[in-house]
Amino acid sequence: MNDDSDLFFGLSEIQETIKKYPTPFHIYSEKGIRENARRLYRAFSWSRGFKNYFAVKACPNPYIVEILRDESGGVDCSSLPELVLSERVGLRGNDIMFTSNDTPAGEFAKAAELGAIINLDDITHIPFLEKEAGIPDVICFRYNPGQLRRTKEGNVIGTPSQSKYGLTKRQLFDAYGIMKSKGVKRFGLHTMIASNDLSISAFTETAAMLFDLVAEISGRLGIRFEFVNLGGGLGIPYRPNEKPVDIEELGREIKLIYEEKIEKAGLGPLKIFMENGRLMTGPYGYLITRAIHEKHIYKEYIGVDASMSDLMRPGIYGAYHHLTVLGKEGAKHDHKYDITGSLCENNDKFAIDRLLPEIKIGDIIAIHNAGAHGHAMGFNYNGKLRSAELLKRADGSIGMIRRAETVKDYFATLDFPESKFKSLSSVS
Ligand SMILES: *Cc1c(COP(=O)(O)O)cnc(C)c1O
Repeated sequence: MNDDSDLFFGLSEIQETIKKYPTPFHIYSEKGIRENARRLYRAFSWSRGFKNYFAVKACPNPYIVEILRDESGGVDCSSLPELVLSERVGLRGNDIMFTSNDTPAGEFAKAAELGAIINLDDITHIPFLEKEAGIPDVICFRYNPGQLRRTKEGNVIGTPSQSKYGLTKRQLFDAYGIMKSKGVKRFGLHTMIASNDLSISAFTETAAMLFDLVAEISGRLGIRFEFVNLGGGLGIPYRPNEKPVDIEELGREIKLIYEEKIEKAGLGPLKIFMENGRLMTGPYGYLITRAIHEKHIYKEYIGVDASMSDLMRPGIYGAYHHLTVLGKEGAKHDHKYDITGSLCENNDKFAIDRLLPEIKIGDIIAIHNAGAHGHAMGFNYNGKLRSAELLKRADGSIGMIRRAETVKDYFATLDFPESKFKSLSSVS
């Protein structure tokens, strides 16, 4: 959310929470995640078998994945650990879509073992998959439309003709033909073009493109498609002047295209899948941090106890994240600050030249829209330790769903015990 009024917690609640779980931490709202998921499913309730396969990479915490699983969601995985995470929350079979690229053999084997829908990124992956895991019952291919589609500036996926993913249109015909000759009877078609796109047209155009392709491929090869997967990428409003995507309108528009291109052509029923990550958790997570330093040089700086290892979108994409100084929502925003973390990189800033209320040391700052691609992108560069993750349950209680990393974790992958360290230092 991009407005102070959308916070799902108050200052005193966070002050209480901090006594038990020190800052910085991420906090998610179970209620927000559930309500949003239900809204998405309602908007597509006309489509039998509609499913959102949550892109696990956006928020790979099993407690969060469990909530989405309860709301009829599947998971979109792209690596072995993500497959194992999904298995641990009890997801198997066609509730898992495995969309990977440059895939190691063992990952196909695990996906096949779980009965996941395997979505191949390239035509050369057919013999590779056959050798490593055999030919599955159901197969999907990822389409890259190349020059046929352009995406807006700043799309992190890049324009299709420059992106590494998927098969060309020509290759698709060959690929489905090969699979048909190998006895496969269940088919799906996938693409993922948009990223953080707030326009409905980006998704209706994708739906129309895939429906046309389904008609063309099934006509030419005599195969029947069971589903199309429109990919993820539905955007969320990060900036105060941005509006959320009208999900109901999106559902209605895709329904019209479906009736025209699929139903009338006798190609139904065709299930519609999506694999949104950001839309499902982004607005329902905040990074909570405290002001620990102020600095007055050529600019005014507020140093907080979180850093870009907790949320690197501002640092790497220059992304805007709204900030609320808790308890000062109504105060005049008349102080211009850079809000910084402690990394030895000058792009470790959560905000640049941002007008905010006067900040005092100890003030608590909530960084909005950190629920997707936030904690998940954390790292240990510069000896930074990843923060904890908390969940505000539907009953209002707040609990920890992942502890913060410790120095011990930092050394956990090294065969360099403390005792050895001591003996070495005593030698020198
Ligand atoms: C990252 C990714 C998604 C999710 O993207 P969001 O912007 O979080 O919705 C979905 N599908 C694939 C293949 C991805 O790589």
